[in-house]
Amino acid sequence: MNILLIGSGGREHALAWKLAQSPLTDSLFAAPGNPGIAEHAELVVLDAGDHAAVVAFCKAKTIGLVVIGPEGPLVDGLADSLRAADVPAFGPGKLAAQLEGSKGFTKDLCALHNIPTAAFSRHDNAASARVSVGAFGYPVVIKADGLAAGKGVVIAENETEALAAIDAMFDGAHGIAGTEIVIEEFLTGEEASLFALTDGTTVVAFGSAQDHKRVGEGDIGPNTGGMGAYSPASVLTPALEAEAMRQIIEPTVTAMREAGMPFVGVLYAGLMLTPDGPKLIEYNARFGDPETQVLMPRFEGDLTALLLAVATGSLATAPSLLFCEKAALTVVIAARGYPGVPEKGGKIDGLAQAGKRGSVVFHAGTSASEAGLIATGGRVLAVTALGLNVTDAKRSAYTAIDCIDFPTGFYRRDIGWREVQRELA
Ligand code: ATP
Repeated sequence: MNILLIGSGGREHALAWKLAQSPLTDSLFAAPGNPGIAEHAELVVLDAGDHAAVVAFCKAKTIGLVVIGPEGPLVDGLADSLRAADVPAFGPGKLAAQLEGSKGFTKDLCALHNIPTAAFSRHDNAASARVSVGAFGYPVVIKADGLAAGKGVVIAENETEALAAIDAMFDGAHGIAGTEIVIEEFLTGEEASLFALTDGTTVVAFGSAQDHKRVGEGDIGPNTGGMGAYSPASVLTPALEAEAMRQIIEPTVTAMREAGMPFVGVLYAGLMLTPDGPKLIEYNARFGDPETQVLMPRFEGDLTALLLAVATGSLATAPSLLFCEKAALTVVIAARGYPGVPEKGGKIDGLAQAGKRGSVVFHAGTSASEAGLIATGGRVLAVTALGLNVTDAKRSAYTAIDCIDFPTGFYRRDIGWREVQRELA
């Protein structure tokens, strides 16, 4: 079968790497891809926003499955356009992608179906937000409703900070994403990510992970897209995972189907493991980045068969999902300046040697130039290793990183620290 993969990040490289291992995959195309993905796929120039062009490409190349990596094209309805043209697509349509695209939509759905989440209020103007901001005590969480690349959330310690965040959001700090906001009760606990695949009816858990969003060691500094991750997240015990599936994921999938907007793809729940059990912080409508870079090396099944089963409504008959017992850990190497303005053009060497240390190097913001591989994005590489436990995987990942010569890059040395502490205890 021929497959088209949409996207260009480390997540898509990990998906391409795994899709290419399937005997069912004939030709793999990626739009636009990156130099790492080019080792597994033919890169094509296609504007994901031009649905007619994507459909025409799929027809011309007899594409049997389109895997949509990032949230943008999902929220924009690319999966709907593909399905309308009888091209199987892995990813939710525009209405179902609201689970990620509108925090207010998700909060209302939770309220309607008793899905555990933080208490909240929605506001479309600053005056009403300012009046109710104190209702949940402090700290309080203020969120832009729409997609803001992980930057639309402010945890305000007091009323002054909260009012400033409200005013900034309604003054356009996050553009159209902040024309409506959600105010939320602050939850305490440890965070974990749970992934579930669904064809709209059948739902299966697809692994867990924990990531590090802050740029600095010790989880300090500004938020990023993610500086590293490990899987599985042992803090999400089998009992807690089952509870989250039963109380959060499954009712969501049922509610979406019954509302006429079935969710097809991967539902990625950001959970807070509170003293009262798991509560939903947010949904993403796609695989996580960098969580995919730890899920794919652990997944032992046939990814092409699985994603096709999701896309074609036959997940109920798909083989059961197998993950290896090993732990995986990935470390993101970013360009200096990230998450602000990253330095571009930095030379990268040593990836082949790093790969020989038992690790997989996934590309994100790289480009091939006459001078060799250079950095062209904020997050540039993700280096993943497997191990008997997280401590072991961490050791291998950093040993591989030591082979990489990227003077204008930086990375955190403490990825997985919570789990390493638990393993030492
Ligand atoms: P991203 O795209 O980076 O996943 P996002 O912008 O979609 O993030 P959320 O995941 O909703 O936003 O929130 C970002 C982070 O803020 C969470 O990972 C969590 O650390 C913190 N957070 C969000 N909501 C709450 C809450 N109600 N209580 C405590 N912390 C919260």
